[in-house]
Amino acid sequence: MQGVGFRPFVYAQAKRFGMKGTVINHGSEVEIDAAGEKFDEFCREVGKGPKMSVIDSVSVEPLQNWNPPANFTILPSQDGARTGFVPADIATCEHCLHDIMDPNSRYYGYWATSCTDCGPRYSIIKSVPYDRERTSMDDFPACPACQNEYENPGNRRHHAQTIACRECGPKLSLLKGSGEIISANDTISVAAELLDAGKIVAIRGIGGFHICCTEESAEKLKTVLGRPNQSLAVMMKPETLSDFVVEPTKGEWELLKGPVHPIMILDKIDPESHKNLSQLHNLGVMLPYTGLHHLLFTKLRSPLLIMTSANAPGTPMITETKTIIEKMGQVVDYILTHDREIVNRCDDSIVRDGYLIRMSRGYAPLRTRMVLGKRQILGVGPERNANTTVYTRGFLITSPHIGNIRNPPTVAYLEETIEKLTGLTGSVPEIIAHDLHPQFLSTRVAQQLAERYGAVLCPVQHHRAHIASVTTEEVVGIAIDGVGYGDDATIWGGEILAGSPGDGYIRTGHLEQVLMPGGDLATKFPERMLYGILPNEETVSLLRNRGWDETGLRILAQQTEKRFNTPVTTSTGRVLDAASALLGICRERTYDGEPSMMLEAYAARGVAQPMEITLESRDGRDVLLTSSILREGMEMLSDGICIEDIAASIQTTLAKGIANIALNGVQTTGIPKTALSGGVAINRSIRETIIETLKNAGVECITNPRYPFGDGCISCGQVITAGILAKEGRI
Ligand SMILES: [Zn+2]
Ligand SMILES: [Zn+2]
Repeated sequence: MQGVGFRPFVYAQAKRFGMKGTVINHGSEVEIDAAGEKFDEFCREVGKGPKMSVIDSVSVEPLQNWNPPANFTILPSQDGARTGFVPADIATCEHCLHDIMDPNSRYYGYWATSCTDCGPRYSIIKSVPYDRERTSMDDFPACPACQNEYENPGNRRHHAQTIACRECGPKLSLLKGSGEIISANDTISVAAELLDAGKIVAIRGIGGFHICCTEESAEKLKTVLGRPNQSLAVMMKPETLSDFVVEPTKGEWELLKGPVHPIMILDKIDPESHKNLSQLHNLGVMLPYTGLHHLLFTKLRSPLLIMTSANAPGTPMITETKTIIEKMGQVVDYILTHDREIVNRCDDSIVRDGYLIRMSRGYAPLRTRMVLGKRQILGVGPERNANTTVYTRGFLITSPHIGNIRNPPTVAYLEETIEKLTGLTGSVPEIIAHDLHPQFLSTRVAQQLAERYGAVLCPVQHHRAHIASVTTEEVVGIAIDGVGYGDDATIWGGEILAGSPGDGYIRTGHLEQVLMPGGDLATKFPERMLYGILPNEETVSLLRNRGWDETGLRILAQQTEKRFNTPVTTSTGRVLDAASALLGICRERTYDGEPSMMLEAYAARGVAQPMEITLESRDGRDVLLTSSILREGMEMLSDGICIEDIAASIQTTLAKGIANIALNGVQTTGIPKTALSGGVAINRSIRETIIETLKNAGVECITNPRYPFGDGCISCGQVITAGILAKEGRI
């Protein structure tokens, strides 16, 4: 274990039990040579580990020809066998926060205070083993006072690699957007004043820059960022939370205040409130997680700060000061930065209802123990919401969130992350798993790497990767999302897949195949999708009433009839988009998932009414007729039923219908268990309805607690599939 204060912990236990010997870090394994009267007690306590540690296994062997030294010491690290443990960043702990706020502490007011239990890890690490000289803290030699604490076994910063103080540590500076330095004694106070005065300030954090402002400046921020409708995450103190959102559960509080400090999606007290922050019924909230944030909130008068990742649309978050000046100097008024290099970029993680939406800071790199044989495997992930996973020596290690691999900057970021992850874990891929889609840029990256390493390629179908990431057991998998390339080269996204990664999955059911007039245009303008599902006179008159002109309608009809640039899809996301368009909730998508998220917000205020569920057998598979659900929704609309109720009815019926085709899969295959994955499962009502319907039929439904429902689980599913095939000698 690294970065969790394991060696100082062992040292403390050795002193406690009067042991003699040594402790040494071999990269990811700790070796303890020890002798003493209380050997068993010592072993038992050491086996528990310090607070942040995860111990995979402990083995005890007698030492031959060994004479214990006179006392117990910590030896310098050695570069041994790397099973690839790279610690994730940890939010400022309570003890450090106390030091920062204590006028008698030498850490008083120091923004980068940390200890063995907290502080940056992955974001500053250049190579393993995790020691100061292999992190960006190497630029800041410890002052005598810090060195003293570092060496003092009785101190809680004993062997804290990130130890630093005002004298020796990284320093803050305040700049104008143009890069001009503003001299100030107390940079944080000035920044707080500027924020309170309505200015937009870029703040350099642990894993990258945030763009920040108060709620009063929300509209200005959205205008300059060109994101008019997207929700903005906010940071606030825990005591302010109850003014905005419903009380988090005990588990949610633990997560909010714990080592990760993720953004948590919580329901607003009044769904109609704070629309400038979020047009949805919920709000993304996080608590201050660095010394800088805590200090800023002591000065700030505003109860909250909007904190959104600093990036140009579709490109990775900005980490460097010169880049923020260059790319966003026009957008932000000021820049609050520091001089500690961000080695590895890391966005904030996002959690909702206890499930991960984005796995990044605090969670990743995520390590999972799994035996997939001797060959080393790389999974390059899908196209959207990608990350990458490495398998080496019995562990899966998944990188933080990378983004949508659709342009050169994110492709470069994917390649860079692969390089870092393989480097940090000391692995050379022998098998490279990738998406089945031949045109994906991530597929091309896989092909290039395979050539470089002489590795074997293993294509894995998107929705099968989803299910494999949940379990390697035989299940009836339910994969519901926006888009994935299917076996037949059409767009899938509402799939029932029965089987296992080793034996393969049979597609026993899916949503009705519907038309997407204009392809990607139907995703951007969901009214096109509505017409694709219901190409009839009622839809035409609805669109006409919404302002579509005759030419536009004629082109749409011709395009659909001739199937010109009109692919087919079984996507669940597109059905939700069409429902959103039908109800006039969202007519144009300005960010990923907008129509379906807005639909969910309306549905949350509505009451579901019973609707017909129509299943048909087509080519031996069960098909849920989504056109019949939307047709009924349209009838309800003309009957004058409120759109909130119709939204709720459509979501519930769709979810029940999906559960029904899964139940048919259970019956025909005899596989008793189901597994749920896919971005649509983030929708609370849909997820709970599916699980509930299955449960009522006596069928268990499992989900993946460690990976996101969305495509953040794909690289892992790809690696698991490839690993199982390799283990069985099929690759
Ligand atoms: Zn601490
Ligand atoms: Zn110092």
